[in-house]
Amino acid sequence: MSIISRYVSSVLFPACCAGCGKVTESARLQDKNAHICDECLGRLELTEQFELRDNVTEDLFAGNEQFERGAAYCFYDKQDIASELIQSAKYRRQPEINYELARRAAMDGLQSDFFEGIDVIIPIPLHKRRYRERGYNQSDYIALGLSEVLHIPIDTSHIERVRNNKQQALTQGKEREKNVEGIFRVNHPEEMYRKRILIVDDVITTGSTIRSCMEAMSAFRGAGISVFALAKAR
Ligand SMILES: [Zn+2]
Repeated sequence: MSIISRYVSSVLFPACCAGCGKVTESARLQDKNAHICDECLGRLELTEQFELRDNVTEDLFAGNEQFERGAAYCFYDKQDIASELIQSAKYRRQPEINYELARRAAMDGLQSDFFEGIDVIIPIPLHKRRYRERGYNQSDYIALGLSEVLHIPIDTSHIERVRNNKQQALTQGKEREKNVEGIFRVNHPEEMYRKRILIVDDVITTGSTIRSCMEAMSAFRGAGISVFALAKAR
Protein backbone atom coordinates (compact mmCIF):
# COMPACT_ATOMS: atom_id res chain seq x y z
CA MET A 1 0.00 0.00 0.00
CA SER A 2 1.39 3.42 -0.92
CA ILE A 3 1.82 6.12 1.70
CA ILE A 4 -1.02 8.14 0.17
CA SER A 5 -3.52 5.29 0.07
CA ARG A 6 -2.52 4.31 3.60
CA TYR A 7 -3.22 7.89 4.70
CA VAL A 8 -6.57 7.99 2.85
CA SER A 9 -7.69 4.67 4.31
CA SER A 10 -6.66 5.68 7.85
CA VAL A 11 -8.80 8.83 7.50
CA LEU A 12 -11.79 7.04 5.96
CA PHE A 13 -11.51 3.91 8.11
CA PRO A 14 -9.72 4.93 11.29
CA ALA A 15 -8.48 2.01 13.38
CA CYS A 16 -10.99 1.24 16.11
CA CYS A 17 -10.25 -0.92 19.11
CA ALA A 18 -12.50 -4.00 19.25
CA GLY A 19 -12.55 -3.78 23.04
CA CYS A 20 -13.37 -0.15 23.82
CA GLY A 21 -14.36 1.09 20.36
CA LYS A 22 -12.09 4.08 20.71
CA VAL A 23 -10.49 5.35 17.56
CA THR A 24 -6.83 5.19 18.18
CA GLU A 25 -3.72 6.56 16.61
CA SER A 26 -1.75 3.63 17.96
CA ALA A 27 0.73 2.49 15.36
CA ARG A 28 0.08 -1.09 16.42
CA LEU A 29 -3.53 -0.89 15.25
CA GLN A 30 -2.43 0.09 11.77
CA ASP A 31 -1.21 -3.49 11.52
CA LYS A 32 -4.01 -5.54 9.93
CA ASN A 33 -3.58 -8.26 12.56
CA ALA A 34 -4.10 -5.92 15.50
CA HIS A 35 -7.62 -5.14 16.69
CA ILE A 36 -7.18 -4.45 20.39
CA CYS A 37 -5.56 -1.35 21.86
CA ASP A 38 -2.75 -1.56 24.40
CA GLU A 39 -4.97 -0.25 27.16
CA CYS A 40 -7.56 -3.02 26.65
CA LEU A 41 -4.85 -5.68 26.42
CA GLY A 42 -3.47 -4.38 29.69
CA ARG A 43 -6.87 -4.82 31.33
CA LEU A 44 -7.04 -8.55 30.57
CA GLU A 45 -6.56 -10.58 33.70
CA LEU A 46 -4.11 -13.30 32.65
CA THR A 47 -4.37 -16.64 34.43
CA GLU A 48 -0.71 -17.66 34.11
CA GLN A 49 -1.93 -21.26 33.97
CA PHE A 50 0.61 -22.44 31.40
CA GLU A 51 3.12 -22.98 34.18
CA LEU A 52 0.63 -23.85 36.87
CA ARG A 53 -0.13 -27.55 37.37
CA ASP A 54 -3.45 -28.55 38.91
CA ASN A 55 -4.88 -25.14 38.09
CA VAL A 56 -8.62 -24.43 38.13
CA THR A 57 -8.94 -25.29 34.41
CA GLU A 58 -7.24 -28.66 34.85
CA ASP A 59 -9.50 -29.42 37.82
CA LEU A 60 -12.48 -29.57 35.44
CA PHE A 61 -11.03 -32.45 33.40
CA ALA A 62 -8.93 -34.31 35.93
CA GLY A 63 -11.29 -37.32 35.97
CA ASN A 64 -10.61 -38.22 32.32
CA GLU A 65 -7.78 -40.69 31.88
CA GLN A 66 -6.65 -39.31 28.51
CA PHE A 67 -6.42 -35.80 29.91
CA GLU A 68 -2.95 -34.27 30.13
CA ARG A 69 -2.86 -30.48 30.56
CA GLY A 70 -5.26 -27.57 30.62
CA ALA A 71 -4.93 -23.80 30.57
CA ALA A 72 -6.92 -20.69 29.80
CA TYR A 73 -5.26 -17.46 28.74
CA CYS A 74 -7.32 -15.05 30.82
CA PHE A 75 -10.22 -14.90 33.23
CA TYR A 76 -13.67 -13.91 32.06
CA ASP A 77 -16.42 -12.20 33.95
CA LYS A 78 -19.70 -10.67 32.84
CA GLN A 79 -19.06 -7.31 31.21
CA ASP A 80 -15.31 -7.24 31.68
CA ILE A 81 -12.94 -6.65 28.79
CA ALA A 82 -12.39 -10.38 28.12
CA SER A 83 -16.13 -10.93 27.86
CA GLU A 84 -16.49 -7.92 25.56
CA LEU A 85 -13.80 -9.21 23.20
CA ILE A 86 -14.95 -12.80 23.13
CA GLN A 87 -18.59 -11.86 22.58
CA SER A 88 -17.55 -9.63 19.67
CA ALA A 89 -15.56 -12.46 18.16
CA LYS A 90 -18.50 -14.83 18.48
CA TYR A 91 -21.60 -12.76 17.80
CA ARG A 92 -20.43 -9.53 16.14
CA ARG A 93 -18.53 -10.96 13.22
CA GLN A 94 -15.08 -10.08 14.52
CA PRO A 95 -13.45 -13.52 14.82
CA GLU A 96 -10.05 -11.98 14.05
CA ILE A 97 -10.03 -10.89 17.71
CA ASN A 98 -9.66 -14.57 18.65
CA TYR A 99 -6.82 -14.93 16.19
CA GLU A 100 -4.97 -12.03 17.78
CA LEU A 101 -5.56 -13.23 21.36
CA ALA A 102 -4.52 -16.77 20.46
CA ARG A 103 -1.27 -15.54 18.94
CA ARG A 104 -0.50 -13.63 22.13
CA ALA A 105 -1.39 -16.67 24.24
CA ALA A 106 0.84 -18.92 22.14
CA MET A 107 3.77 -16.57 22.58
CA ASP A 108 3.21 -16.60 26.34
CA GLY A 109 2.82 -20.37 26.34
CA LEU A 110 6.14 -20.77 24.57
CA GLN A 111 7.82 -19.62 27.76
CA SER A 112 6.60 -22.88 29.36
CA ASP A 113 6.45 -26.53 28.25
CA PHE A 114 2.66 -26.44 27.89
CA PHE A 115 2.54 -26.86 24.10
CA GLU A 116 5.51 -29.22 23.86
CA GLY A 117 4.84 -32.50 22.08
CA ILE A 118 1.37 -31.56 20.81
CA ASP A 119 0.80 -33.18 17.38
CA VAL A 120 -2.45 -31.57 16.37
CA ILE A 121 -4.84 -28.75 17.29
CA ILE A 122 -8.57 -29.47 17.15
CA PRO A 123 -10.97 -26.51 17.44
CA ILE A 124 -14.32 -27.43 19.01
CA PRO A 125 -16.59 -27.69 15.96
CA LEU A 126 -19.94 -26.01 15.50
CA HIS A 127 -22.91 -27.90 14.11
CA LYS A 128 -23.10 -27.26 10.37
CA ARG A 129 -26.37 -25.38 10.68
CA ARG A 130 -24.91 -23.06 13.35
CA TYR A 131 -21.83 -22.63 11.17
CA ARG A 132 -23.95 -21.57 8.23
CA GLU A 133 -25.88 -19.06 10.33
CA ARG A 134 -22.76 -17.51 11.85
CA GLY A 135 -20.61 -17.81 8.76
CA TYR A 136 -17.57 -18.98 10.71
CA ASN A 137 -16.45 -20.95 13.74
CA GLN A 138 -14.87 -18.60 16.28
CA SER A 139 -12.71 -21.45 17.59
CA ASP A 140 -11.15 -21.98 14.15
CA TYR A 141 -9.58 -18.55 14.54
CA ILE A 142 -8.08 -19.53 17.89
CA ALA A 143 -6.62 -22.64 16.30
CA LEU A 144 -5.21 -20.52 13.45
CA GLY A 145 -3.51 -18.09 15.81
CA LEU A 146 -1.96 -20.90 17.83
CA SER A 147 -0.96 -22.89 14.78
CA GLU A 148 0.82 -19.98 13.19
CA VAL A 149 3.00 -19.30 16.22
CA LEU A 150 3.52 -22.90 17.32
CA HIS A 151 3.79 -24.55 13.87
CA ILE A 152 1.36 -27.29 14.89
CA PRO A 153 -1.19 -28.45 12.28
CA ILE A 154 -4.96 -28.03 12.69
CA ASP A 155 -7.38 -30.91 12.21
CA THR A 156 -11.08 -30.39 11.59
CA SER A 157 -11.97 -33.71 10.02
CA HIS A 158 -11.84 -36.23 12.87
CA ILE A 159 -14.48 -34.75 15.09
CA GLU A 160 -17.88 -33.48 14.11
CA ARG A 161 -20.79 -31.92 15.97
CA VAL A 162 -23.80 -34.00 15.05
CA ARG A 163 -26.47 -32.39 17.19
CA ASN A 164 -27.34 -28.70 17.08
CA ASN A 165 -27.80 -28.31 20.82
CA LYS A 166 -29.13 -25.26 22.60
CA GLN A 167 -26.39 -22.75 23.48
CA GLN A 168 -24.71 -23.62 26.77
CA ALA A 169 -24.99 -19.98 27.83
CA LEU A 170 -28.78 -20.47 27.98
CA THR A 171 -28.64 -23.55 30.22
CA GLN A 172 -28.01 -23.98 33.91
CA GLY A 173 -26.91 -26.56 36.43
CA LYS A 174 -27.58 -30.21 35.57
CA GLU A 175 -29.16 -29.22 32.26
CA ARG A 176 -25.70 -28.21 31.00
CA GLU A 177 -24.37 -31.79 31.03
CA LYS A 178 -27.56 -33.15 29.49
CA ASN A 179 -27.52 -30.52 26.74
CA VAL A 180 -24.11 -31.63 25.44
CA GLU A 181 -24.54 -35.38 25.80
CA GLY A 182 -23.57 -37.22 22.61
CA ILE A 183 -23.28 -34.08 20.50
CA PHE A 184 -19.93 -35.10 18.99
CA ARG A 185 -18.99 -37.93 16.67
CA VAL A 186 -15.50 -39.03 15.62
CA ASN A 187 -14.43 -40.04 12.11
CA HIS A 188 -11.59 -42.46 11.32
CA PRO A 189 -10.48 -42.73 14.95
CA GLU A 190 -7.66 -45.12 13.97
CA GLU A 191 -5.88 -42.18 12.30
CA MET A 192 -5.63 -40.46 15.67
CA TYR A 193 -4.01 -43.44 17.39
CA ARG A 194 -1.60 -42.19 20.11
CA LYS A 195 -1.76 -38.59 18.90
CA ARG A 196 -1.29 -35.81 21.39
CA ILE A 197 -4.19 -33.49 20.82
CA LEU A 198 -4.95 -29.94 21.90
CA ILE A 199 -8.67 -29.12 22.01
CA VAL A 200 -9.35 -25.39 21.74
CA ASP A 201 -12.42 -23.36 22.60
CA ASP A 202 -13.17 -19.73 23.33
CA VAL A 203 -14.64 -19.92 26.84
CA ILE A 204 -14.72 -22.57 29.52
CA THR A 205 -17.49 -22.25 32.08
CA THR A 206 -18.16 -25.65 33.65
CA GLY A 207 -16.18 -27.54 31.00
CA SER A 208 -19.14 -29.73 30.03
CA THR A 209 -18.85 -29.18 26.25
CA ILE A 210 -15.18 -30.12 26.26
CA ARG A 211 -15.84 -33.10 28.54
CA SER A 212 -18.39 -34.32 26.02
CA CYS A 213 -15.86 -33.87 23.21
CA MET A 214 -13.24 -35.78 25.21
CA GLU A 215 -15.71 -38.59 25.75
CA ALA A 216 -16.13 -38.96 21.99
CA MET A 217 -12.35 -38.85 21.65
CA SER A 218 -11.98 -41.90 23.87
CA ALA A 219 -12.25 -43.69 20.50
CA PHE A 220 -8.81 -42.22 19.72
CA ARG A 221 -6.91 -45.09 21.32
CA GLY A 222 -3.85 -44.12 23.30
CA ALA A 223 -4.29 -40.42 22.54
CA GLY A 224 -3.39 -37.73 25.07
CA ILE A 225 -5.66 -34.73 25.32
CA SER A 226 -4.85 -31.21 26.46
CA VAL A 227 -7.22 -28.28 26.57
CA PHE A 228 -6.74 -24.60 25.82
CA ALA A 229 -9.35 -21.84 26.04
CA LEU A 230 -8.99 -18.12 25.59
CA ALA A 231 -10.94 -17.50 28.76
CA LYS A 232 -12.02 -19.27 31.91
CA ALA A 233 -15.22 -17.97 33.49
CA ARG A 234 -14.76 -16.87 37.09
ZN1 LIG B 1 -9.35 -0.61 23.59
